[in-house]
Amino acid sequence: MNRQKMMALVAHDNMKHDLAEWVDWNCEKLSKHRIVCTGTTGKIVEETLLNHSASHHYEQPALDITRLKSGPLGGDQQIGAKIVEGQIDFVIFFSDPLTAQPHDPDVKALLRIAQVYDIPIANNKASADFMISSPLMDEEYEHDVINFRQNISERAKQL
Ligand code: PGA
Repeated sequence: MNRQKMMALVAHDNMKHDLAEWVDWNCEKLSKHRIVCTGTTGKIVEETLLNHSASHHYEQPALDITRLKSGPLGGDQQIGAKIVEGQIDFVIFFSDPLTAQPHDPDVKALLRIAQVYDIPIANNKASADFMISSPLMDEEYEHDVINFRQNISERAKQL
């Protein structure tokens, strides 16, 4: 993992306000990194960063935000695929613990694949705060990922 991180930001509808507040609070730290979001979350994150620079009277550095599909239309799966391809360093996912989501299987899949690839994932404000304040944010980091190539050849021998 490089010093400049690719961060995925996602929030369920009831949590978007909380994520916008968190983004506003952490604007300066976030501007050092690249950001990828699900569709609606990305729009809110962009607007929050622009409003932040306008209200603090400074010129917003060029935003590096990629917006994927909306979550229910596969955006969470796109983030999962990017994790598999090694393109995402950590995930902030403000999921809603009190409301059923139509794309719940996709959310579970994203959590699982982040676990498989040893990608840090924060699912509430406190864990996001701890993560973004970590000294590891400014360092390179080696993920502990299962050696699937070896795993595949060993399993193929046994079957
Ligand atoms: P959204 O998707 O950012 O398009 O709302 C997030 C989600 O519901 O997983």
